Amino acid sequence: MSTMTAAVVDEFGAELAVRDYDLPAPGPGQALVRLIASGVCHTDLHAAEGDWPVRPTPPFVPGHEGVGIVEELGEGVTDLSVGQMVGNAWLWSACGSCEHCRSGWETLCEEQVNGGYTVDGSFGEYMIVDARFAAAIPEGSDPHEVAPVLCAGVTVYKGLKCTGVRPGQWVVISGIGGLGHLAVQYAVAMGMRVIAVDIAEEKLRLAAEHGAEITLNASTSDPAEEIQRRVGGSHGVLVTAVHPAAFGQAISMTRRGGTIVFNGLPPGDFPAPIFDIVLKGLTIRGSIVGTRQDMVEALEIYSRGQLRPRVSTRSLAEINTVFDEMRRGAIDGRVVIDFAGDR
Ligand SMILES: [Zn+2]
Ligand SMILES: [Zn+2]
Repeated sequence: MSTMTAAVVDEFGAELAVRDYDLPAPGPGQALVRLIASGVCHTDLHAAEGDWPVRPTPPFVPGHEGVGIVEELGEGVTDLSVGQMVGNAWLWSACGSCEHCRSGWETLCEEQVNGGYTVDGSFGEYMIVDARFAAAIPEGSDPHEVAPVLCAGVTVYKGLKCTGVRPGQWVVISGIGGLGHLAVQYAVAMGMRVIAVDIAEEKLRLAAEHGAEITLNASTSDPAEEIQRRVGGSHGVLVTAVHPAAFGQAISMTRRGGTIVFNGLPPGDFPAPIFDIVLKGLTIRGSIVGTRQDMVEALEIYSRGQLRPRVSTRSLAEINTVFDEMRRGAIDGRVVIDFAGDR
C-alpha cells in the first residue's frame, strides 16, 4: 500500500506525529483530493486533546478546512470531476433521511460524520471527501484565503442568519478573533450595521477597517450600557468570544425582541436572568457550522470579493507550534497549512 505524509494524532494530548500514513482510496460516492491548503480550527486542537465528550479514535488525521484538487473519483460519483477544486468541512456527511436532514437542518443530524474527527481530515497530503457534501470552491478563489470559509466562515454566516437581523438593523459581534473578524465582514455584506466588541484595541481597529460602525472595548467600558445608550439596544448579537462572561453580557446588549446567537464554544455556564429574557421577549439560540446551502452562499460572498480572511501560512511540519500558539491565544486571524511547503 502506498503512503502519504500526514499530521497524525496517535495519542490524545501528545504532539501530533508528522509521519507516513496510509494513502486513502475513494470508496463509492467518494473522491480522493490532493491538498493545497488547510485552515487550522480550534476544534482540531480539541480533537487532538480528546477533551470533548465524544472523542475520535486514534490514530486519526484532524483538519476540516481543507482545499485541494480532485484526483480520483470513486464508483458512481457524478457531482465532482477530476481536476476540480473542492473543500472538506466539519459536516463531512449526514444521513439525509432523518427528521433534521429532511427539514433542512442536516447540521443537527445525529448520524453526521465530522471531517478530521470521525473521519480523517485535511492535515495530510491527501483526503477523502463525500461527493455529496464536498464544497465546490468557486473559480478564481485563492485556495489559502478561501480555506477558513469552510468552517469559520460558514459558521459565522449561518450564525448571522440565525440572528434574524435584517438589512439596516444593528448586530453586535462579540469577540473579534478568527471567527469574529469574518463575522464583521459577512454582516456588512448582508447589509447589517455592525457594533464590534472585544478587549483588544488592535482587534477593534481591524473590525472598524472591515466596516464596523461602532467599536467598544469591554475592558475599559460597559459595552451593554453603551449599546443601550447609543442605539437603544441591538437587534441581534453574535457571540464568537471564547470567554463565558461574554455570553451573559450579550443579554443586556439586546433590544426588546432581539435574538442572541452563540457560535463560540467555551466550557462553562453563564447567568441567564429570567426576568429580562421574558419581559424583553429575547431569543437565545446556539448555531453550529452550516448546511451545504449555507456553504454555497458563504463561498459566493467570498468570491464576490466581500470577504478578506486574514490568513498566515505555515508548513504541516509546524503543526505542533501552531497548536501551542492556539493554546496561548497568540494567533491573529487564521493559520493555514500550505502543503506546497512540504513537497
Ligand atoms: Zn472548525
Ligand atoms: Zn440525518
